[in-house]
Formats: sequence, structure tokens, C-alpha cells
Amino acid sequence: MTYQYWNERMETLPHAELETYQLEQLKKILAVAMRTPFYQKRLSEAGINSADEIRSLADIRRVPFTTKHDLRDGFPYGFLSVPKDEVIRLHASSGTTGTPTTIYFNKEDIVRWTNFVARSIYATGCNKTDVFQNMITYGLFTGGLGFHFGGEAVGMLVIPSGPGNTTRQFKLMQDFGTTVVHATPSFLLHVEAKMREEGVTRGSLALKRAFAGAEPYSEDTRRRIEDLLCIDVYNSYGLSEMNGPGVAFECQAKDGLHIWEDGYIAEIVNPDTLEPVPDGEVGELVLTCLCREASPILRYRTRDLTGFYTEPCSCGRTHRRLRRITGRTDDMLIINGVNLFPSQIEEVIMSIKEVGNNYLIVVEKEGVLDRLTVKIEVRPNIFMDDTRPLNALKERIRRTLQSMITINPRVELHESGSLPVSEGKAKRVQDNRPKDV
Ligand code: ADP
Ligand code: ZN
Repeated sequence: MTYQYWNERMETLPHAELETYQLEQLKKILAVAMRTPFYQKRLSEAGINSADEIRSLADIRRVPFTTKHDLRDGFPYGFLSVPKDEVIRLHASSGTTGTPTTIYFNKEDIVRWTNFVARSIYATGCNKTDVFQNMITYGLFTGGLGFHFGGEAVGMLVIPSGPGNTTRQFKLMQDFGTTVVHATPSFLLHVEAKMREEGVTRGSLALKRAFAGAEPYSEDTRRRIEDLLCIDVYNSYGLSEMNGPGVAFECQAKDGLHIWEDGYIAEIVNPDTLEPVPDGEVGELVLTCLCREASPILRYRTRDLTGFYTEPCSCGRTHRRLRRITGRTDDMLIINGVNLFPSQIEEVIMSIKEVGNNYLIVVEKEGVLDRLTVKIEVRPNIFMDDTRPLNALKERIRRTLQSMITINPRVELHESGSLPVSEGKAKRVQDNRPKDV
């Protein structure tokens, strides 16, 4: 198997042919899955004893869902389909919502995965002349090595900087003429604030693009990063259960994320009824990995909320596009009975120009009621000693938030750079309410 960053035939295959290909691959991966202790049992319980019983793509609905809970139960080898000596790497999820889960790769799995990342990078307009600084955590987390291999497959010069230490990041960018970076959107905002603080001028950098993912962010946040750093920002979506990055990615049209349908089957279901939602509507993304043999995972409930854009993309790629992922079903906060996603708050505050680059949502119990506080950094040019305009700003943010989220929040304004910054995924919510037992 060889590395390939542009697969014209596959990326522009008419959708009907893509579906035929998916069906073939689905049967293959079902046969592979039947070799694992977990699916042997699960599939036979569902009455599927041979891959040939799946005759159309719609038959995938006969396959039971797999949840994060199942993966944890199967730890460490319940999902392994090949002899251990064929495995050449393992990765684990970052464990945002509990114990991490592990996945295994054989040699071909690594090449297939790398090719999806390489294809994604190339779709944003990068090529071998680019210098790529990968400012994301390496290690068990898939973002580091996944992008590293993908970048190399494109032929770019890859600088494995990892996150943190902005002074060193700027030095690397200047010394080697970095043209593209990969980071979480929150870290990119932090980089911009540090640039100003350390007096690094935009003119001293050759930066053109950034890949931003691993956590939800709003369209306003994207625009803010693009305007502040004068770059193009491309949304990158992936999860370790589905290899890692390179599951879905924005092309230069920046209008939804192409999900690579020759590697993944995507379904959108209603998270309560688990029935498919009407085309275009938002629901929970369910993914089947067609491109990994060592740890096959079928109909995985990602808990991520998104929907399909159904119209064709101007770039000519035929793989369907996902809407920006707004959050996970389990991110939802219930505040005095009202449902609220953190992304709704981000959407409101990031559109206010006096608001700075960082914020934190705190929920507490006050008597019997829940109390929502939004701590917001202001832009560095706003003087914290000037209480009159500051109070007016605070009141304006509070009123805008209240009208959008129907909850009356307390708003606190903080100096630029004073709220905690995370190098990996940002921790936007502090829920201090006592847990029900
Ligand atoms: P964990 O589930 O422990 O966070 P991962 O490190 O595999 O494990 O992270 C994958 C998750 O990160 C996705 O399921 C999704 O919730 C989130 N994510 C990744 N990329 C994006 C993105 N571009 N937009 C929104 N959420 C994202
Ligand atoms: Zn496109």
C-alpha cells in the first residue's frame, strides 16, 4: 500500500457508485468484525450470522449500535480482530467524558488512515511546498501522530512542535517559515493574544492557514481567528474510535465538512428514538469505520450533533458534507429546566467585538435554583479601571445572552489573558452543582 494525498477517482466518484463501494466495504468489515469476541456475540444476537445477509446499504440498520460503554467493556482486546503481533500501534481517546478507550492499527490501517488525513490537508490547498507546525498534543491522542503522518504524506515539512510554550512556537515559525498550523481553536486564540503580548508582528510570519478541531467552535470564532491572524481556518473533525483526524474536513469552499464516505458510513439519528432523521436535519452522528481492520467498530454512537448538507459542493468532491458540529448530546446543561448547549453561549458572545478570546461557563446551586455565570475576557484595548463603560458592556452582553438563551445569566468581565488556558481541548464548563445520587 502506498501513500496518496489526492485520489481523484474516489473523491469525485458519483454518489451512487460511492454507495456501491460502501456496501462492498461494509460486507468486508462485517466479516472482519465477526472475528472479534464482542461482535461475534452482538451480531449473532441480532440474527446476523454472515456478512452476505447484508444486501443493501439500508440493511446496516439491522446491525446493532456500538457505544462508548461497549468499548470500555471490551477493554483491552474485546474489539481486536487480528493476532496481536500484527498490531503496530495503539491510540486512546482523550477521555473527555470518562475512562479512555483504546484502538489498534495494523500496517495497512495506518496507511489508510494517513491517506484520509493527507487527502483532507490537500483539500485545503496545501501542498509539498508548505511548512506545517503541528501544535497539538502528541502521544496517545490521535491528533498529533495522525496529522504528522498525513502532513508527511503530502510531502510538507512537518515540525512536530506539540502544543504549549508560545515563545518557542513563534521562534519555530520565524526560523522555518511555517505556513500552516494545526491546533485547537482555543489554543489559536491564545496564540493570537500571546503574539500581541510578546510583540511578534504578523509581518514576521509566513502563516497562511490553520486546521482547527478537536472541540466545537462557532462560525464567529472561526472568523475571529481568521481576521486576527489573517489566515484561512479549516474545520477538522475526527475521533479516536474512527481512527482520529481525517474523518471529515472542510475543503477550500469552507462550507461544511466532507465526510470521506469511502472510509466511513455516516448516519444521522434522533438520539432518543435512534431512528434516522429526515435528510438535512440535525441529530446524532453514527459512524461505521470501513477502513480499519485491527479494531473494527460498527455503527458507533458518537454523541456528536450535526446534519448533512445535501447540495453538491463547488469543489467537485462528491462526498457529502456535515454541518459544523455544535456539541455532544452529553454536553447539554439543564439550567432551571431549560436545555442549554455551551455552543449557544459561544455563538452569542463571540459576535460581540469587545469580547476577548477566552471565556468560562460556571453553573452553581443557589438555594434551590441553578445559577449560570459567564466569565468573559475583554479585548486587551479595554481599560478595566473605567467602570462606567465596562458596566454598560456587561449589561449589553447580559441582555443579548438572555434574549438568545432565555436564561438570565450573571456576566463577569475579566482582563485579557486572565482566565485559564488549556493546551488540549478547552474546558469551557465548570458545573459545581452537587451531583444527584
Ligand atoms: P474524547 O471523546 O475523549 O474527547 P477524542 O479525543 O477522540 O476523544 O475526541 C473526539 C471528539 O472531539 C469528537 O467526538 C467530538 O466530540 C470532538 N471534536 C473533534 N473535532 C471536532 C470539531 N471539529 N468540532 C466539534 N467537535 C469536535
Ligand atoms: Zn468541497
